[in-house]
Amino acid sequence: MNVTDMYEYDFVVVGVGPAGARFSRRAAEKGYDVLALEQGTVGTPLACSGHVSTDVWEFTGPGAREELFQNEIYGARFHVGGPRSDAYPFYKDEVASNVIDRVGLDRHLADLAREAGADVREEHTVTEVREHRDRVEVVASGPDDVHTFEAKMVAGCDGPRSRVRDELDLPEPGELLHGVLAFSEEEDHQDFVDVHLTAPTFFAWRIPRGDAGVEYGLAAPPGVQVNKHFEELIDGYEVDVSHRCSGAIPIGPPERVTTRRGFLLGDAAAQTKPFTGGGILYGMTSADHAAREIDPDRPTTLAAYERAWRDDIEREQSLGHWLRRAYSLPEPVQRIGLGALSGKIGVHMDRPTSLLSRDHLQAMVSRAFR
Ligand SMILES: Cc1cc2nc3c(=O)[nH]c(=O)nc-3n(C[C@H](O)[C@H](O)[C@H](O)COP(=O)(O)OP(=O)(O)OC[C@H]3O[C@@H](n4cnc5c(N)ncnc54)[C@H](O)[C@@H]3O)c2cc1C
Repeated sequence: MNVTDMYEYDFVVVGVGPAGARFSRRAAEKGYDVLALEQGTVGTPLACSGHVSTDVWEFTGPGAREELFQNEIYGARFHVGGPRSDAYPFYKDEVASNVIDRVGLDRHLADLAREAGADVREEHTVTEVREHRDRVEVVASGPDDVHTFEAKMVAGCDGPRSRVRDELDLPEPGELLHGVLAFSEEEDHQDFVDVHLTAPTFFAWRIPRGDAGVEYGLAAPPGVQVNKHFEELIDGYEVDVSHRCSGAIPIGPPERVTTRRGFLLGDAAAQTKPFTGGGILYGMTSADHAAREIDPDRPTTLAAYERAWRDDIEREQSLGHWLRRAYSLPEPVQRIGLGALSGKIGVHMDRPTSLLSRDHLQAMVSRAFR
């Protein structure tokens, strides 16, 4: 049965990951009528390390840290080869990042959106978006029916392989990396992650997750034998892993993420860091820009969103592309570079432009005189 829901929403949000949940919450807090549709159960399936800067707690509600925190990280040990190769540590004096329960994060953010008044519905897969001059129609298959919802605008927050992006004829991200990860049961409270520059143009990693075990992962572009490189990583560490999962990582930015009555957010808009693939913080930050700038009664405000997120993030993404080029340098050059630069740093993990910050320059100078 196909039911047309004649109720007009201000926004239909497609996808309730961090970007969709954050936008739904912020837009509902502004008094807008928000319907948020998630194809499965919020937070599943997992395809993410949940390694984030401590800024994540600025986006959460009461009790989040107690519920979601797994481990704190001060730095990263870079390796040109596998686990037995030399380690080049980069670290801060204070906590640089946290490892968190990513499934729990999504549920927490969705609950905040509900509390703010958004109508969050799981088991609703959006299959079609029709954009008209004065409204959008969003077709979703629910547990019992196919529904057509009408809204003033649609927000595509539906991840790297966004259906909304296709339906609105918006450009694809420049690149989609393939990421895999799995877990071992060793309890590990170390405060360093390990990064191995062994995967072509990207890297493999080991993340200690406190009581929640250790995560091993790897990402690389299509065409690379990701599983073969991942097996080599696991063999090198001599561990048994389970709960394997995989996902796509979009690398952008694309030329355009808005149409007349539609816009993309988060991975759908490739709002990720080109040198790590991380997108949780950029997606939520962009969601805040969208909620602040977009007025569903004035489609021209979409241009203000497009400007705002690019002003905030695009320079970081450009510099991130430059950093990623170092992953493809010849190994001897990588060793010399890592040897020369390793030590204390003052860089913010989401802001490569902080390489020029006072904190970082001070750290470099103090190292030179040590
Ligand atoms: C292996 C791997 C490791 C990663 N590690 C990190 C990390 O440590 N730190 C970090 O910051 N980032 C990491 N990322 C990236 C991070 O997962 C994404 O940037 C982030 O999830 C983007 O959030 P989002 O809300 O835009 O999209 P998503 O989290 O992908 O959410 C999109 C939602 O839309 C739903 N959806 C999709 N299609 C439809 C549809 N047709 N109808 C309805 N719902 C739909 C999906 O079910 C999903 O819930 C990693 C990614 C991978 C693949």
